Amino acid sequence: MNKKNIMVNGREVPVCVVHTLVIGSGAAGLNAAIQLRNQGIEDVLIISEGLNMGTSINTGSDKQTYYKTAMCGGDQDSPYTMARNYFDGGSMHGDLALVEASTSARAFLNLVNLGVPFPQDPYGQFVGYKTDHDPAQRATSIGPYTSREMCNALIRELKRQNISIHEKTYCVSLLTDGEGDAKRAVGAIAQNENAEFVAYAADNVVFAVGGPGGLYETSVYPNVHTGAIGIALLAGAMGQGLPEAQYGLASTKFRWNVSGTYMQVIPKFVSTEKDGESDPREFMRDYFNSVGEMNSMVFLKGYQWPFDIRKVVGGSSIIDVLVYIETQIKGRRVFLDFRENPQDFKFEDMSQEAYDYLKNSRAFQDTPLARLEHMNPSAISLYNDNNIDISVEMLEIAVCAQHNNGGLAANHWWESTNVKHLFPVGEVNGSHGVARPGGSALNSGQVGAFRASDYIAARYKQSSLDYNAFVVAAEKELAGLETFMDNCRNSSADWRSQRQELQSRMSRAAAHIRSEKGLEEALREAEKMWQDISIGGCRVENPSQAIQALRNRQLVFAHLVYINATLFQVKSGAGSRGSAMVKLPGGVVAHDMLDSNEWSFQSEDTQFRRKVLETIAAPDGSCVSRWVDVRPIPESELWFENAWADYRAGKIYG
Ligand SMILES: Cc1cc2nc3c(=O)[nH]c(=O)nc-3n(C[C@H](O)[C@H](O)[C@H](O)COP(=O)(O)OP(=O)(O)OC[C@H]3O[C@@H](n4cnc5c(N)ncnc54)[C@H](O)[C@@H]3O)c2cc1C
Repeated sequence: MNKKNIMVNGREVPVCVVHTLVIGSGAAGLNAAIQLRNQGIEDVLIISEGLNMGTSINTGSDKQTYYKTAMCGGDQDSPYTMARNYFDGGSMHGDLALVEASTSARAFLNLVNLGVPFPQDPYGQFVGYKTDHDPAQRATSIGPYTSREMCNALIRELKRQNISIHEKTYCVSLLTDGEGDAKRAVGAIAQNENAEFVAYAADNVVFAVGGPGGLYETSVYPNVHTGAIGIALLAGAMGQGLPEAQYGLASTKFRWNVSGTYMQVIPKFVSTEKDGESDPREFMRDYFNSVGEMNSMVFLKGYQWPFDIRKVVGGSSIIDVLVYIETQIKGRRVFLDFRENPQDFKFEDMSQEAYDYLKNSRAFQDTPLARLEHMNPSAISLYNDNNIDISVEMLEIAVCAQHNNGGLAANHWWESTNVKHLFPVGEVNGSHGVARPGGSALNSGQVGAFRASDYIAARYKQSSLDYNAFVVAAEKELAGLETFMDNCRNSSADWRSQRQELQSRMSRAAAHIRSEKGLEEALREAEKMWQDISIGGCRVENPSQAIQALRNRQLVFAHLVYINATLFQVKSGAGSRGSAMVKLPGGVVAHDMLDSNEWSFQSEDTQFRRKVLETIAAPDGSCVSRWVDVRPIPESELWFENAWADYRAGKIYG
């Protein structure tokens, strides 16, 4: 790493010159830095908000899942079989599916070797279970905190290898040089904890900033995590599948998915007025023919966690719709009460499946709390650890954003498809399509880290950075950032209100319930907001909040691009798919007891599963989206002697 300075508006800005800059230290970024070093790239630097920031180290779920190739029993698995399962989810490129499948074992065993205690049997088999969209038993878990333990193991390795990291360093811009096919990354600008700008000149940028958690009001992304995809979109990097995401029921005071046993013990769903007390009602009762039917749906929600449009009519996802209506449409608040059964609750009224499950689990205790205590006591202590005692208070919930299947577009070496030397890895990479097997997000992040580092070591080891081009790009960007910060000093728009406004717009119009009209209106508002912040910035109270203003800048831009892409998808007629309902009067009626004008939806046009939505934005906020055909699962040279020769000649890097 080399240190230099550049002058901007008469002020010196420090520059770090590094071969490969990794932005972000979640599970994906950490592994990228480690694998780069393993591949012989010595000059690696991570910049990050902090090792304890981001989603991976701060989140989990009932049984947080890692998806990998099957490694136990007589189950037959292969890269092609697994790739086919990914690919069949729809709108996922076949080459990416094949790589996520073929590199899965390598990525998983790396974690095992670093000490992540994935369960084995006495004979070394990594025992698996089935997760959603998974026909084989490919899923594994170490409990609620799989991704946290992955990070801890990777951080130990990072320290052992003495890889440099700048924490409390907030990336605010990506720097590029050239246009068209010659466009490439040359570095980044960040703010340090004293709100001073620092520039990084880099041959390669591994962009590992996580999912767009800061875009939503109702969100189960950890509070500390906003993500930064807007920075790359602003730099012109192409997005793909941006509208595809996962939403589901989660507690909001402490953000946690209320999946699995939280539902299987059949808590009472209650809604109240805004104050959280007045007019308590078991609002779901009106929508089911019997209490038994209602409770059976709640039970099913346990393992049908994400909102899934195919499970709305007559299925468990109607619960997400009903919760949404209470919270977003009626402006009430929704809680789970574990202290009492739903009114008229009887075990024998429930479906055979639910009844048998509770019977086999010996879970016929009197209250949901007692059943939870019996089946999964750590589900209670988890809330206690976060100052919520569900034995004395109700648990507030909402339908929350959890994961973005889409993100930045990259090729099968995880290099951006239109900005060379930029490698989006982890959740910010939009490799997944409409539906993905549970746990494949963590697999994809590890796989992407291997692929990017393999490619950088093979093709980009020799420096090709034009330092003068970096200086030109950095000076221009820094001048713009300084102007933005000057505008912020005189702005009347409070950063918190602005953040809240964009988040509520996304949750209202571009989350799991969408409509053309709602998106059109949201787009007009988002465009105006982008114009306003570009000209006038937003007000911060002190210099330490400067980063919030710059976060707003990228979030406002990102929300504009997401809304634009989502509207394009809706107008194309792709219809309701994955975790999103597109409302359409005259369409499929969601539920007999809901107003059919309001609660009908467009069915899916499945031909769009064979296409991927690409979106590219310009700094003025204009966006161009288009559908491209999915690339098929490639046929590869599998005759060993020939494959070996190609490998030795470096032909595999294209
Ligand atoms: C509640 C919940 C449950 C989940 N359960 C599962 C599951 O069971 N299985 C599964 O596969 N996936 C699951 N996921 C998804 C999965 O956890 C994430 O996709 C994954 O952890 C993301 O890892 P990442 O490394 O890409 O990003 P992150 O872990 O979010 O890391 C991003 C890093 O970038 C840094 N960063 C961001 N912006 C900047 C910036 N501007 N400057 C500097 N640094 C920056 C952050 O501080 C952080 O270090 C779940 C997600 C949630 C929210």
